Amino acid sequence: MTARILVVDDIPTNVKLLDARLTSEYFDVLTAFSGAEALEVCASNNVDIILLDVMMPGMDGFEVCRRLKANPATHHIPVIMVTALDQPSDRIKGLEAGADDFLTKPPDDMQLLARVKSLVRLKMLTDELRSRARTGREIADEEAMLALGNINSENGRILVIDDNERSAGRLSELLVPGHHVDIITDPVSVAMNIADKDYEVVLVSMNMADFDPLRVCSQLRTLEQTRNLPIILIADEGDRPKVVRGLELGVNDFIVRPIEKHELAARVGTQIRRHRYGIALRDSVNNTMAMAVIDELTGLYNRRYFERHVALMLEKAVEQERELALVMLDIDYFKPVNDTHGHTVGDQVLKEFAQRLKRSLRGIDLACRYGGEEFVVLMPDTSLAKAQNVAERVRRTIAETPFQVGRELLLDITVSLGVAMANQQGDTPEALLKRADMALYRAKDQGRNQVVFDAA
Ligand code: GH3
Ligand code: MG
Ligand code: MG
Repeated sequence: MTARILVVDDIPTNVKLLDARLTSEYFDVLTAFSGAEALEVCASNNVDIILLDVMMPGMDGFEVCRRLKANPATHHIPVIMVTALDQPSDRIKGLEAGADDFLTKPPDDMQLLARVKSLVRLKMLTDELRSRARTGREIADEEAMLALGNINSENGRILVIDDNERSAGRLSELLVPGHHVDIITDPVSVAMNIADKDYEVVLVSMNMADFDPLRVCSQLRTLEQTRNLPIILIADEGDRPKVVRGLELGVNDFIVRPIEKHELAARVGTQIRRHRYGIALRDSVNNTMAMAVIDELTGLYNRRYFERHVALMLEKAVEQERELALVMLDIDYFKPVNDTHGHTVGDQVLKEFAQRLKRSLRGIDLACRYGGEEFVVLMPDTSLAKAQNVAERVRRTIAETPFQVGRELLLDITVSLGVAMANQQGDTPEALLKRADMALYRAKDQGRNQVVFDAA
């Protein structure tokens, strides 16, 4: 895991120190010595994380952070505030300015790396999601964009695992009312209690009397429902070696007692956001993949998918000398349906039409919405007689029973169909479609509500 980190501090020695530490961990380090310079560097480079000093002459860290978070081009870059004094008021101001995390000067290696790595993971997810959302938008998916804009860390569902009720209660008090917190005092029951709870982050106390916290963590990592759940260890100063083991086991972050409310808020917030980004990312991938091939209104395959598929099926049919039939369908007098009853009713008819069509076909037949009220069906291993049969069955299924829209409206709908067979001597999708379309045209011409075979 590597990333480009911008270190901002007005004191060159501090910059040098952080630069050396991060470079030795193979991070790519950029530096800036003032707030203004930091903004410039961000504008002209792809920065993944910013380590930002608070006290600087001229523009201080809070102001830099506010400006970064107000700019759409940089607001997604995580900012870690480096505070000289461990002062709660600095952290409140930092949170208000939009900071994602805090480090106290001089940061020790373990804290520095844990924080940076935790935020790098978050940044990688947001970057991925941003780029998916962009491609998504190109195919008119505004949902991904919306989902991305709506991700925050409010109202998290948090699980605290601690066998000491009092310390669990104190922890919970620091998080409520911003979040919903459940406490489990008997880690053995975790597996039973966690099913369908949808937790977004788990806080595991390291000073349990009867349980090994790392064993609890590794258990969480093996359970199916909690495999991807962020884990934060609540540690004491003396737990450091164990925390290192925990981080190796896949624990996401740790907080050292005494717990400072704002630090806790920032770390928990980061993990919740990361979890939500991960889920949004999965959803958007599923959506984008489905959207790319499925017609939204009818749930049938869309034209793009059909065009890719027909070429493959045609090739296979010719190569293996197998029959392939194509039926082209066009609803009769559909424009008057819209004109008389409105577009919404028209849409309902299209949906119902698609359902009836699907029900009349076999599983291996491929039904697609080709355009407005035009559909195509590809039928592999199907003879002309069989294809005509199916087409006739579809025609009847549509014509015989009126379409019911809402409670009142009954509409008589008919469809015209053209059937063409793949030419075993070699054929192109365009030629096959053209022949089916000609047959369809004749069906329309001869009075509609009928099946015509292309006799060419
Ligand atoms: P024909 O029997 O000759 O096919 O007559 P038609 O009225 O069905 O044919 P035409 O091609 O003139 O009109 C098709 C109509 O389909 C026009 C358009 O308003 C409607 N249409 C296309 N896509 C949609 C859609 O997604 N929803 C709705 N409600 N109507 C659509
Ligand atoms: Mg029509
Ligand atoms: Mg038409």
